[in-house]
Amino acid sequence: MNTTRLSLHWKWFGAIAFLLILFLLAINLSLDLTLPAYLRQKIQADLERHARLTAELVRRTPATELNAATHHWAERTGLRFTIIARDGSVLGESGKAADQLPHVENHRNRPEVQAALKTGLGVATRPSDTVNVDLLYVALADAGRIIRVAQPLHEIAATTRQIRRTVAGASLLVTILVLPLAYWVARRTTAPITAMRHMAARVAAGHFTDRAPEHAGGEIGALAGALNSMSQQLETRVAELTSEKAHLAGILTGMTEGVLVVDAAGKVRLMNHALRQAFQLTDDALGKTGLEVFRHAGLDELLATPGARELTFLHPTDRTFTVQAGNLTGGSGVVVVFHDITRLKQLENVRKDFVANVSHELRTPLSIIKGYIETLLDPEPPDATTSRQFLETIQRHSRRLETLIDDLLSISALESQEARLEFAPAAVRSTATGVIEELAHRAAEKQTTLTLDIPADLPPVRADVQRLHQVLVNLIDNAIKYTPAGSQVRVSAAPKNGFIEICIADNGPGIAPEHLPRVFERFYRVDKARSRELGGTGLGLAIVKHIIQAHAGKVWVESEMGKGSRFYVTLPTA
Ligand code: ADP
Repeated sequence: MNTTRLSLHWKWFGAIAFLLILFLLAINLSLDLTLPAYLRQKIQADLERHARLTAELVRRTPATELNAATHHWAERTGLRFTIIARDGSVLGESGKAADQLPHVENHRNRPEVQAALKTGLGVATRPSDTVNVDLLYVALADAGRIIRVAQPLHEIAATTRQIRRTVAGASLLVTILVLPLAYWVARRTTAPITAMRHMAARVAAGHFTDRAPEHAGGEIGALAGALNSMSQQLETRVAELTSEKAHLAGILTGMTEGVLVVDAAGKVRLMNHALRQAFQLTDDALGKTGLEVFRHAGLDELLATPGARELTFLHPTDRTFTVQAGNLTGGSGVVVVFHDITRLKQLENVRKDFVANVSHELRTPLSIIKGYIETLLDPEPPDATTSRQFLETIQRHSRRLETLIDDLLSISALESQEARLEFAPAAVRSTATGVIEELAHRAAEKQTTLTLDIPADLPPVRADVQRLHQVLVNLIDNAIKYTPAGSQVRVSAAPKNGFIEICIADNGPGIAPEHLPRVFERFYRVDKARSRELGGTGLGLAIVKHIIQAHAGKVWVESEMGKGSRFYVTLPTA
């Protein structure tokens, strides 16, 4: 196990165990150092006491009985007694029989005897000359005699050994008993710290559910309390920030305007949904510069000097935006808002085109009328036949102007929704019959055959009858107008998915595919000159489209060159 990764309670346990072992070693060591000296001192003191007591006894004992007395005392006490005369001769010795005494060596030169003679008390340690073991000798000078008491020192070693063994045993026992206790204490003390460490790690990882154990009390308890309140505050803060972020993200996503944020270094940091869609951007754009992503010098200038500009982008589609750039607080970047005004621009263009078209359409007949009137007002007017022809032309163009103005008013009324449509169940068959009767003479002029193929039991549609009539007039009239003499025009109707589908089919020249999508536009004609000649305004199909849309229906055309055209209209059944 790596030491740096050692858990706290093991370190604590190690410290306690180390101190314990150190303490026990110190006890044992001091025992070793002091016990022998202490025991020796004690023995010496004992021997002194014995020597004094013996001195008393020696005084009362006759010289002839001294040796026997030493034997007796030795028996009782286990000590060795020697009685020595001042000249060094031995008067009694507990280790010798009476008859051996004359042969015993003179004791005067023994150190303890010397010391006793000098100071009254002598002490010496040395191996005995008789028994090979260290002896402690204490000699006392008393009444002209030296009383010497000795004890072998091997008892000291034995006692020391005995005590040391006992202490070592006790130490071992203490160790065995204390170590688990130390482990338990270490665990208990460090458990709250470990718990706090785990908790702090969890908090750092964003989990705020854990709580530190406050019951520990003291500094650790206070620390746990502080940690808990910190975690709670952090949780509230994080929750606030998260919801604020979600809020902001929601706003950004929901915005129809594109939002771009670049940092101080000009790198893209944020793009909202609308911006990504408008410019087909992915996360790849993040971290790139505005110029790299949008490739637009105008936008780049705006990022450098924030303000508002109208910018047209050609990629991925041709679009115009009002782009507003503002500095973020603290100069940490720029936020840019893109407001798509492409549609507004288109509408503006449509309006401009429309005004131009209307002016043009009005001017043509007006200048013709003006020309003829001027000729008629000439001082030399043309003859009556020519004048009449002129007047007829003026009439024709006046009518044209009238229809043009009528059509324009229709369109404008339909667009401004002034034309209140009166919806009621309307019979397609009878309305179509009426229109065919109205246009019969024009069909007859061109030998066009008009056929009606509408079942009598066709359900009625929900429509404004007058507008339905207008729709059918425009479509059938076109079919007669734009087909050569002797063509066939067929009007049919059938129910389809809750609607009635009306079809006006002719077998004329048809409409080229490139014109098909545009024939419903205002003033759009396939052949301008021909349309004018035939009295068309270019507004007929636009009016049809407006009316049908106001009825929640659909209108479309299918055509094949050389085979004819089929205009379809659907209207909801009543
Ligand atoms: P106009 O007043 O010119 O008829 P419309 O809006 O009614 O204007 O029609 C637009 C153009 O569509 C016409 O100019 C004509 O070229 C073409 N068109 C309409 N109906 C037919 C048809 N049945 N066959 C061929 N071309 C048609």
